Amino acid sequence: DDLLRASDPLVASWIDRELERQRTHLELIASENFTSAAVMAAQGSVLTNKYAEGLPSKRYYGGCEFVDAIEQIAIDRAKSLFGAAHANVQPHSGAQANAAVFLALLEPGDTILGMDLSHGGHLTHGSPVNLSGLYYRAIHYGVDPTHHRIDFDQVRELALAHRPKLIICGYSAYPRRIEFERFRAIADEVGAYLLADVAHIAGLIVAGEHPNPIPHCDVVTTTTHKTLRGPRGGLILTRDEALGKKFDKAVFPGIQGGPLEHVIAAKAVAFGEALRPEFKSYAKAVIANARALADRLTQRGLSLVSGGTDNHLMVVDLRSVGLTGKEADLLVSDIQITANKNTIPFDPQKPFITSGLRLGSPAMTTRGLGSTEFSAIGDILADRLQNPTDARIEADCRLRVQSLCQRFPLYEHLGLVAAL
Ligand code: PLP
Repeated sequence: DDLLRASDPLVASWIDRELERQRTHLELIASENFTSAAVMAAQGSVLTNKYAEGLPSKRYYGGCEFVDAIEQIAIDRAKSLFGAAHANVQPHSGAQANAAVFLALLEPGDTILGMDLSHGGHLTHGSPVNLSGLYYRAIHYGVDPTHHRIDFDQVRELALAHRPKLIICGYSAYPRRIEFERFRAIADEVGAYLLADVAHIAGLIVAGEHPNPIPHCDVVTTTTHKTLRGPRGGLILTRDEALGKKFDKAVFPGIQGGPLEHVIAAKAVAFGEALRPEFKSYAKAVIANARALADRLTQRGLSLVSGGTDNHLMVVDLRSVGLTGKEADLLVSDIQITANKNTIPFDPQKPFITSGLRLGSPAMTTRGLGSTEFSAIGDILADRLQNPTDARIEADCRLRVQSLCQRFPLYEHLGLVAAL
């Protein structure tokens, strides 16, 4: 830190301000988390200097003996966390992991079936503006209009009508448990591959708090930086060694060049953390905290998509308070709560406006908050969203946010913010 400040005070000062922002805001973005100091140390290491195209002990560059050992640790830990036969730890991100799977399993023009973006799917599951929708013929299923759970009748009908080569489950804004075996049955009926993209719930899966997709799916992709609490990155897992070799080739040389060995080392450290018993307690707390927040919001009269949550996230249906997602996003930012606007299923608003606010518990659970504090956050959010023009309530909410931030300090080992 001091070295950076001496050499580039301008960039250092912006990093300081970002640290201060993270310390003084309640982070409720469902896809974010706070990595450990050990993960950050590995990522900020000399490994950033190393080229290592290829796989451990099969490299195109010399001098790879130590990064080989590190990447092998990451692979072995990933396999053991998920119970997979094969892992590729090189994808630079979740989007990259999905692109590699498509390259390995599909020809351009093949049909894929994934969840609609506006119902909780991800851009990489066939959106017309993403490679997955541009190069493949994407068909979308959604949730049931009344209970907001996956509409399996629709999934099956679409699968029978369109005979997709790949069916995708796993989402960015779905608050309920995913029944992988029901997708498996449909995939088997039409001879499709089944991909579970568990980017959001990976940490819950490895802790045993959500069913594991590995036994039911041909391939599983994930990010490593959400509930799994590692560095930003992607990961591909499979129980099938032959498919695993195809995914390896699709990552490199298919879509990537040199792997980011500093990020892979940070993944190895995070996987090591996730193998420890404390991580199980963390994942349990993530779910208990999300439930506490969801319960309090509901008691206060805000409705939630699907009526609640089974996992780490929820989507508030803001029509219950007469606001749009865009408005709510700004209202909570004013009191130093960070969240994101989100479409709700069958959203009457445009994607840039939306009718939903997505909230998640992973980051603030890492900071140490428990159910009592998450209920208190529910009250702060309800007070703010139900009284958008009341300056006294706004000031009071801001004070309550600051009090929580002070009680649960973040990254105390990092230096004080430089004078700005
Ligand atoms: N898949 C899902 C389900 C996601 O929610 C995300 C991230 O939001 C991704 C893939 C993409 O991950 P990344 O942002 O690392 O490319």
